[in-house]
Amino acid sequence: MRKYTNFYLDGQWVEPTNRSTTDVINPATEQVVGQISMGTAADVDTAVKAAQTAFKTFSQTSRQERLELLKAIAAEYKKKSSEIAAAITAEMGAPKWLSESNQAASGYLHFKSAIDILEDFEFEFKQDTAMIHKEPIGVCGFITPWNWPVNQIGCKLAPALATGCTVVWKPSEEAPFSAYLLMQVLHDAGVPKGVVNMINGDGPVVGSAISSHPDIQMVSFTGSTNAGIAVAKDAAPSIKRVTQELGGKSANIILADLSTEAFAKAVAGGVKTMCVNSGQNCNAPSRMFIPQDRLAEAEAVVKTAMEKLTVGDPQAENTFLGPVVSKQQWQRIQDLIQQGIDEGAQVLTGGLGKPAQLDTGYYVQPTAFTQVKNDMQIAQREIFGPVLCLLPYDTEEQAIQMANANDYGLSGYVSGANPDAVNRVANQLRAGMIHLNGAQMDRTAPFGGYKHSGNGRERGAQGFEEFLETKALLGVAQ
Ligand code: NAD
Repeated sequence: MRKYTNFYLDGQWVEPTNRSTTDVINPATEQVVGQISMGTAADVDTAVKAAQTAFKTFSQTSRQERLELLKAIAAEYKKKSSEIAAAITAEMGAPKWLSESNQAASGYLHFKSAIDILEDFEFEFKQDTAMIHKEPIGVCGFITPWNWPVNQIGCKLAPALATGCTVVWKPSEEAPFSAYLLMQVLHDAGVPKGVVNMINGDGPVVGSAISSHPDIQMVSFTGSTNAGIAVAKDAAPSIKRVTQELGGKSANIILADLSTEAFAKAVAGGVKTMCVNSGQNCNAPSRMFIPQDRLAEAEAVVKTAMEKLTVGDPQAENTFLGPVVSKQQWQRIQDLIQQGIDEGAQVLTGGLGKPAQLDTGYYVQPTAFTQVKNDMQIAQREIFGPVLCLLPYDTEEQAIQMANANDYGLSGYVSGANPDAVNRVANQLRAGMIHLNGAQMDRTAPFGGYKHSGNGRERGAQGFEEFLETKALLGVAQ
């Protein structure tokens, strides 16, 4: 039982003002495995004051000092990486292999990448008669989700520290263990007091207090589109910068010219990418567009590929999918599967209820619907579970039109034999990151969405820009 009830404020672990706590449940066992405290607006205020004071000195540190700090964090992170991975498995159910090789590893990679970018990032340059200075924006508020808990904070924290900003952070109340360990990593690495402050709590109280705080200059939010809208509304009166990394319903367009073998590889790859992390990825390729005359071929591949995926105990070596994060999320997925059935889509594999022999734990059957129409709710709404929709199309233009006929625009996937056709389709998709022919994630490429998937970009040099103000100096002696 982890008792993580303190907050990290002004360089130390402190008891919260309010003693109310909430339980953390392991989704594989449905058992209470920890406890956190629920913060208040007063805790946020204390954190902001500490971050404001720290900003005075931290914003003036040299590139070299910040490089050394980031290197110290990366070194400490490495030491705690397997502990962080185990915490992620306990709090949100990712299988051990995924927690170790991706979930925990991604946090480290964001610090490494920030070091590389900071080495030669241009904070000052001449533009015609003006000198341009890029300066840290100030105190930043971070609100993060549970699905990739250290990845989502790593890609905010690393550039914030690299650029000289200070931070007030609220992790997800559903995945607070890895956050606690990461905060200890920062402490052990010697992050100066007040530079990063962490408070647990819920969205409407602590999240909203961060979004609306007049002394926070930017808020970076990752989570659902509805909460992202609430953050932007709360932030509006204080004119702060708002970046939003929100939901998705990404299209995976399989073009007609693939050979039988390449077609099977693209379709089976799409199934795996959809179901990894139990389908709880914002960029999951949840809508697979298939040429009408190859639908039967695709259905056979999807059925075999999905039925091969092992669902079960996240601690077991051969598990591909663990449970979904919570009872509430499990029920939401069931409701959407029921909705798909009611709307007339055909269940190709999976369906309602838990997989056989998995009565305890929030396990979902990997499910594929076929003959899905683009206006069905299952084709429009983010399900955030291992549920794939197959949508047949007649022409390339129709596939692009259907792919774009959705509120979201986070990612896209295109596979085809002719590179010109693949590029042509990719260029017409209204989304922030497009994977061509099964290309893997690049953690230094800018990540973020069009439309209801968000505003702003994380990662890479573009990610640094979100934490910088631009000052033009005129009349500087040359
Ligand atoms: P969520 O919106 O319920 O919660 C995310 C965070 O926001 C939590 O810390 C929560 O406490 C807080 N929050 C909730 N309501 C709030 C409010 N009114 N004001 C301020 N903060 C509030 O999302 P979740 O269920 O934790 O995460 C899943 C969602 O996140 C999915 O929609 C997924 O697509 C999205 N996501 C997006 C990205 C991306 O990079 N685009 C990455 C990961 C997850």
